[in-house]
Amino acid sequence: MTKNKKVLILGGTGEAAALAAKIAAIPGIDAIASLAGRTREPITLTTPSRRGGFGGATGLANYLRQERIDCLIDATHPFAAQISFNAAQAASDCGIPRLILSRPAWEKVSGDNWIEVENNQAAANILPGLALRIFLTIGRQELASYAHLKNIWFLMRMIDPPAADAIVPVGKLLLARGPFSLQSERSLLQEYKIGAIVSKNSGGDATYAKIIAARELGIIVVMIQRPPVPEGEKVADVKSVLAWLEKRWLS
Ligand code: NAP
Repeated sequence: MTKNKKVLILGGTGEAAALAAKIAAIPGIDAIASLAGRTREPITLTTPSRRGGFGGATGLANYLRQERIDCLIDATHPFAAQISFNAAQAASDCGIPRLILSRPAWEKVSGDNWIEVENNQAAANILPGLALRIFLTIGRQELASYAHLKNIWFLMRMIDPPAADAIVPVGKLLLARGPFSLQSERSLLQEYKIGAIVSKNSGGDATYAKIIAARELGIIVVMIQRPPVPEGEKVADVKSVLAWLEKRWLS
């Protein structure tokens, strides 16, 4: 009897959860999903899963060998740069194939008023003079980059609250998980009299409504560009990962 192939999915995104569910239904392939463990109530996974860091690229390579993983799917968030570079190194060290699943970035369309910047520091640098009330939708890990801007009020949306000792800008925390509707995003921007939005260019539908609402209301979006990703094969959706696996193992 031939042994099932074993796939490690590096997760933390809706796409990773959807992929895990699809692979679980494919005979001959076993999937393990890995989460960093940052979110208190992560998306429910239908495959076996593990939580927490591996201990860098070396720790991940050790795990791949111990668990006899045949291939690695990097379905982490486009802004989770460290784990993607670790994955590239570890897969190469172990001589196993690796595929990046990354949803396409949002593209500016007619009516958008975007200022594209490289990172949170650059975003914080241009906020003074831009608006006095900002909708900050960058998650909770890099709030400190904005905390020195005492004359600006921030509406800060994230899934889980920041750590008790985190340095947080002046304003209000809004704990919520997408997807968000256009109507609710429009109302939020109006209710809080928001003058500009800071967003990561995460791509995908779940958090795109705020970009449409900003376009409609003539609100500036300070759009943080994606960090570089490691070299390697890349696809944009779950379907393409399944086709890649099928070509490799099932055809
Ligand atoms: P990161 O900076 O690339 O990773 C930091 C460390 O967290 C990694 O070196 C690794 O620790 C651990 N880690 C990250 N993803 C992991 C995974 N799937 N399984 C096991 N360990 C993992 O990533 P991050 O920005 O902190 O994001 C953490 C997780 O949240 C990612 O899985 C990502 O997909 C998800 N996420 C991130 C964002 C974002 O904007 N950054 C947004 C939504 C979701 P070791 O070195 O110890 O292995």
